[in-house]
Amino acid sequence: MALVVQKYGGTSMGSIERIRNVAKRVAKTYDAGNDMVVVVSAMSGETNKLVALANEIAEFPDNREYDVLVAAGEQVSIALLAMCLKSMGYKAKSYLGFQVPVVTDSAHAKARIEEIPDTKMRADLKEGTILVVAGFQGVDAAGDLTTLGRGGSDTSAVALAAALKADVCEIFTDVDGVYTTDPNICKDAKKIERISYEEMLELASLGAKVLQIRSVEFAKKYNVDVHVRSSFNENLGTMVTKEDKDMEAVLVSGIAYAKDEVKIAVMHVPDKPGIAAQILSPLSDANISVDMIVQNVSEQGFTDFTFTVPQADFKKALAITKEAAEAISAKEVLTDENISKISIVGLGMRSHAGVATKMFQVLAKEGINIQMISTSEIKISVVVDSKYTELAVRVLHDAFGLSGEAK
Ligand code: ASP
Ligand code: MG
Repeated sequence: MALVVQKYGGTSMGSIERIRNVAKRVAKTYDAGNDMVVVVSAMSGETNKLVALANEIAEFPDNREYDVLVAAGEQVSIALLAMCLKSMGYKAKSYLGFQVPVVTDSAHAKARIEEIPDTKMRADLKEGTILVVAGFQGVDAAGDLTTLGRGGSDTSAVALAAALKADVCEIFTDVDGVYTTDPNICKDAKKIERISYEEMLELASLGAKVLQIRSVEFAKKYNVDVHVRSSFNENLGTMVTKEDKDMEAVLVSGIAYAKDEVKIAVMHVPDKPGIAAQILSPLSDANISVDMIVQNVSEQGFTDFTFTVPQADFKKALAITKEAAEAISAKEVLTDENISKISIVGLGMRSHAGVATKMFQVLAKEGINIQMISTSEIKISVVVDSKYTELAVRVLHDAFGLSGEAK
């Protein structure tokens, strides 16, 4: 007998019929003799609706109340799934985040899980109850509701699997696994059978939407094997796991793109110590994460300072940057919302030179101008005009041999 944590995303829970389908799958695994904890997302589209309501009622919705609002979607889906399982004759029980409890810090809308006491869950599991837990939500030390950031149910599932030392954590979604790139852009994209935590972390942080980044961080930290697979068929998906020798042999495993960042440039900044901190600190104080950063070569004591932030934080970031720019007597603040970040990821980059050069050559051949570059040990990202997104992804996918026969 194993302890299985399964997570079903919004699309899998998207209608009554689909919830029935999820219940059947859960029942099947339970009938095979497993203890089951099922984590679910809100029905597809529901969280978006709630977010839209928040943005309609206030320009900067209050953080605490925002979480109370957006956590509502999962309350509906856990109740429906638990009802369905009960009507099928199974012992099931829904749990909201605070009932587990999933204890988080107080960073509303992007809370981090700190602790998940397992006593209550263990007692229910011992009685053969299937637990249906609301993903995405938790509770802070003050007893306030928190949410874990969009896509946070993945993290709930992995964290529960870690807390319960589950044997398997299966993330059921609407795709067959992790692909070499977005199959909607590139017909030749292929399912990756096994991928390391490191690569998955990069891909997730780069816009591959299949897993929330924090879920991968959690999985890596606690060594949880995460099986990403489809809820619509029985195919094996992608195993996200510890790196091994085979993985290192691959130069580039995947290509990601993100259209949800915007560029902010502070022009004609005095080039002296402390300026970068003066521009960026207020942003980090406001919990806005800055991604790519470029500072031009100084000319006559002045430079331009450019960075990207998530589209969702754009309004806030711009207001903050304008204030900082004024304080340091910069000339002006320019913005560009039409950018995309294209990235290539692979463990093999560690031991092979020339990957970046090849990437730049491939893009240059298509006349795609690179606006910003950033690299890590296993990743190279570039910012380009968003109109080139699809083209860039396709040519890179081809150039790095991902479009050929399956690896
Ligand atoms: N329902 C939340 C969202 O749409 C959490 C999730 O789906 O993982 O972001
Ligand atoms: Mg998701």
